[in-house]
Amino acid sequence: MRKVFYLLLILIAVVSGCSGLSPASNVSDQTLPQSQEAGQQPARAPLLKAKVTRVVDGDTVHVRLNGTDQTVRLIGVDTPETVKPNSPVQPYGKEASGYTRSQLEGKTVYIEKDVQDRDKYGRLLAYIWLDQPTAVSDLEIRGKLFNARLLLEGYAQILTIPPDVKYVDYFIGYQKEARDGNKGLWGPSAHTPPPQDQGQHTTVYITRTGKKYHLEGCSSLARSQIPISLPDAKAKGYGSCKVCKPPL
Ligand SMILES: [Zn+2]
Repeated sequence: MRKVFYLLLILIAVVSGCSGLSPASNVSDQTLPQSQEAGQQPARAPLLKAKVTRVVDGDTVHVRLNGTDQTVRLIGVDTPETVKPNSPVQPYGKEASGYTRSQLEGKTVYIEKDVQDRDKYGRLLAYIWLDQPTAVSDLEIRGKLFNARLLLEGYAQILTIPPDVKYVDYFIGYQKEARDGNKGLWGPSAHTPPPQDQGQHTTVYITRTGKKYHLEGCSSLARSQIPISLPDAKAKGYGSCKVCKPPL
């Protein structure tokens, strides 16, 4: 089955790539540099069919590959941490994990490697195709390459670790698209921490003659109860009541 797919890839490369070459071109040309000179990618290794068995986080999954369990680290992308021990969950980490789970868990995918086989943790370094690409094109990559989807949807930032840079030019463009579109982690609510409530919206109460500010209902407010914002009360020199203990 894999052999058939490999042949298919060659066929596609020939059909899509040889229009500018001499009519004498044949399949063996795909191993020669001239296919690169024509602006095509070099002949690709066959993709490995695998099944995603578990999602660890946005950029790390387990797959069943050739009968073995493999941990796959997606190349070129970095999603916010959710499971790193002793570190807080980063903003948008949960969303990224959820997206990867929804897109990959239980799915049959196609694994593509770059130059390095594994990282220092022994994880397989890979691109994950949701469907088999029919060409190396922007349309195919943005539509079917999950690493690219993460960038386009704003669930990941680029993480380039040479020599694994096969799609880096595409990825840079996709990240820019997501950032320009305020997608996901680039959105205003995701990467700006929620504003600290400094009491701007807290209303306290003062009296006509007193020097303290109070919570609503304080016994000191029996004669007059004038609402005022907490910052204003402090700015005007009112002090905090010792009885009702309003915020400082
Ligand atoms: Zn009071």
